[in-house]
Amino acid sequence: MNCCNNPKVFELSNKKLCKEHFSEYFESKVFKTISQFNLIDKEENLGVALSGGKDSLTLLFILSKLAAKNPKIKLHAICIDEGIEGYRNKTIITAKEFCKKNDVPLDIYSYEKEFKMSLDKMLKTLDIKPCTMCGIFRRYLLNKKSKELNFTKLATGHNLDDEAQSIVMNQFKNNLMASARLGPISGIKKNRAFVPRIKPLYLCSEKEVATYAFINGILDDFTECPNVVKSYRAQVRDMLNNFENNNLGTKNAIVNSFLEILPELKEKYKFGEAGMCKECGEVASKDKCNACKLLDRLEKAKTNS
Ligand code: SF4
Ligand SMILES: [Zn+2]
Ligand SMILES: [Zn+2]
Repeated sequence: MNCCNNPKVFELSNKKLCKEHFSEYFESKVFKTISQFNLIDKEENLGVALSGGKDSLTLLFILSKLAAKNPKIKLHAICIDEGIEGYRNKTIITAKEFCKKNDVPLDIYSYEKEFKMSLDKMLKTLDIKPCTMCGIFRRYLLNKKSKELNFTKLATGHNLDDEAQSIVMNQFKNNLMASARLGPISGIKKNRAFVPRIKPLYLCSEKEVATYAFINGILDDFTECPNVVKSYRAQVRDMLNNFENNNLGTKNAIVNSFLEILPELKEKYKFGEAGMCKECGEVASKDKCNACKLLDRLEKAKTNS
C-alpha cells in the first residue's frame, strides 16, 4: 500500500511513503512520544543538547515547531566542544548556523575552558577509552550548565538505535543499574541536583532520523567522530545492524521489551544516585563524582610526565 502517487522515499513494514507523508509520519511519531511519556509540559525552559549532528539538529528542528505553537515553551540550545580536531570544530559551525537561522539562543562550553584541556590532549595524557572519558565530562557539563541556565529539562537527540545499543551494552556488561537510568525520561529518582533528560526521538530509528534530516534539508553531510571506531558501542551497533538486516524489528523489540521492565528497574535502583560530590556538588553515587575523579587522575599524570 502506498500513501499517494508521489515518488517514495521510505518503506515501512506495511507501506511506502513519499517525502511529505514521511515527514508527517515522523513528526507525529515524535509528538506522540512526547505525549505518551509526558516529556514536555505546557510551560518549560527547555534546554536542547546540540552537537551539530543529524539527531540533535532534527530534534531542535521539531521542537522549534512545537515551541512556535506553544509560546510558553522556551528553547535554548547548548553545545559541548570536547576538542576533537577535524570533527567537533566542523559540527559546531553547523550548530551555530542552524541556531541563527532558527532563532534559538546557543551557548557553547569547551573542555579546554572548563577543564583546561581538550579531549584530544586528555587522551594523550591518560590511557582511557575515548568515549568513556568524553562521556563522563560531557554528562557532567551538560548537567552543570543546565542548572546554571535554569533549564526545567534537557532534551537530547537519542534515537531508538542508541537506546537499543545502550540496553544491550549494559546487559553485556552486567550493569542493570545503568539501564535503570535509561528510558525516554532519564534518572532513577527525583534529585534537585539533576536536570531531567528527555529523549523525544526515542521511538524513531536512526534511518528514519537520517531520512527526515535529509529530506527537510537539515543536514546532508553525516560526519562521524574519529574515536567512534574504538568504542564498545560501535561493536554493539554493528552487531545490531547486522541482526536487524536479517531479522526486521529486532531493535524495536529490544526497546519495547525494555520499556516493559523499566518501572521495576527504576524501583529496584532508586537509591543508586542520591549522592552529591563533595568537591563540586554534582550528582555522584559515592562522595566524589566521576568527573572529579578523572580530573585528579589527569592532574597526577600531567605532573608525573
Ligand atoms: S564517539 Fe566517543 S569520543 Fe566521539 S564524541 Fe562520541 S563519545 Fe565522544
Ligand atoms: Zn504521499
Ligand atoms: Zn565532582
